[in-house]
Amino acid sequence: MTIFEKIVSGEIPANKVLENDDFLAFYDINPKAPIHILAIPKKCIKDFHNADAELLKGLNEFIKEVAKKVGLDKNGYRIISNIGSDGGQEVPHLHFHILGGAKLKWEKLG
Ligand code: AMP
Repeated sequence: MTIFEKIVSGEIPANKVLENDDFLAFYDINPKAPIHILAIPKKCIKDFHNADAELLKGLNEFIKEVAKKVGLDKNGYRIISNIGSDGGQEVPHLHFHILGGAKLKWEKLG
C-alpha cells in the first residue's frame, strides 16, 4: 500500500484542499514553493505513463478546480508529474504537483 493510499483511507492524516469521489488534493508535506499541493486519483495507478485518458481527463478538471480554490488561477502555476526513477518519482502512485504562489524559477534539471 502506498503512503497516498493510506492518506485516501484516512490511516495517515493530510491537510486536504479538495476531494470528490475519484480524486483528492492535499498540501505537500515538504513544500517546494509557497503553495505546493498534490492531486491524486483515489485509485492507485503507478504513474502518468500508466494512466488512461479517461482518468487523466477527470484529473485535469480536478486540478483546475484546485487551482481556482486556492487562487492560483489568477497569476498562474505549474504542474509536474514525476515518472519513474529518472523522473525523480518517490511515491509510486500517480500524482501531479501543483506549484505556485511566487514567480517560479525554471533551471536546467539534469
Ligand atoms: P514524487 O517525488 O514526485 O514522488 O513526490 C512525492 C511527494 O510526496 C514529495 O513532494 C513529498 O514531499 C510528498 N509526500 C510524501 N509523504 C507525504 C505526506 N504524508 N503528506 C504530504 N505529502 C507527502
